[in-house]
Amino acid sequence: MSDWENIVRLTTPYTPGEQPRDKDIIKLNTNENPFPPSPACADVLRTISAADMRLYPDPHATELVRAIAETYSVKESQVFVGVGSDDVIATAYLTFFNSERPVLFPDITYSFYDVWADVYGVPFEKIPLKEGFHIDPEDYVRPNGGIIFPNPNAPTGVLEPVETIERIVSANPGSVVIVDEAYIDFGGISCLPLIGKYDNLLIVQTFSKSRSGAGLRIGYALGNEKLIRYLNEVRFSINSYTMSRFTIECGAAVMRDTDHMKNTCSKIIRAREHAKNALSRLGFEFPDSKANFLFVTHKSIPAKTIFEELKKRKILVRWWDKPQINNYLRITVGTSSQMQKLTDALTEIISGSI
Ligand code: PMP
Repeated sequence: MSDWENIVRLTTPYTPGEQPRDKDIIKLNTNENPFPPSPACADVLRTISAADMRLYPDPHATELVRAIAETYSVKESQVFVGVGSDDVIATAYLTFFNSERPVLFPDITYSFYDVWADVYGVPFEKIPLKEGFHIDPEDYVRPNGGIIFPNPNAPTGVLEPVETIERIVSANPGSVVIVDEAYIDFGGISCLPLIGKYDNLLIVQTFSKSRSGAGLRIGYALGNEKLIRYLNEVRFSINSYTMSRFTIECGAAVMRDTDHMKNTCSKIIRAREHAKNALSRLGFEFPDSKANFLFVTHKSIPAKTIFEELKKRKILVRWWDKPQINNYLRITVGTSSQMQKLTDALTEIISGSI
């Protein structure tokens, strides 16, 4: 081993879902939106000048920040933007989770949360979920250096009511509570109205799911002006130009087309509710998801077998070889025709295994 390797920052990275090159695959493994983004995105792309790319972008991404502020009726000084919500949350960890006390999050949740804690060297504690994969707010009334959870939770899809979250935020005035609302537009109620009441609440959302913009890489945080200022101070201490010219312009146009986002989400919600019925009939059990995915387990066939059998049939879903969840599959809700193909394949797999 070379001497320099003794001082390398060692980390076990997050493993993102597979991105196969094969276009024939029905891709239900990374919670992308099966519909294209607002047509306004294509309009902007047509107007972008390659010559302008020689210039640095606006470091404050003003146009994008303004579109987000206007959409949510908040001040521009209450909006922070980053390269996907992963970047926003990573910056928030670095900014706010800076204590000897542990950061708290559920034991079954987005598997990036412990990776960020490890890479930044902050202690953390995983809090077991209760019956039905629910969060008990009283579990979060204990000394901590910050709290984070998604609502709806991932990979379970379980949504907590605003009252549960308000209890956690109000009981922890001494630490920042991050509510990761990556999937809130698929039928959840956002905690955004609480940011005026609590200066320790940071709401994080993304373009990747409901706005069909996973490839754009835009995430944003909404909160009290002081929280946003601290986030920007850390961000500008690392990289002043996180948002490309192209991203700022497309992002602003996509954000302003709320109707497109709502229409797309309604179609996904309809496909999700239909899939719940079809999967129940096939012997699957799952918590009631309010996200664009279902977290399912089968009464008699192991999840790993179903995962492999679906893959043979060119349908990709997500399976984790991890204790507690290794008998579950997370299935992204696609178009109704993709979901029909999924149901047909599952029917074949299940009838072949019995
Ligand atoms: N939070 C949760 C709960 C997620 O599932 C994801 C998607 N992997 C993200 C944040 C990050 O999404 P993005 O960086 O694409 O905004």
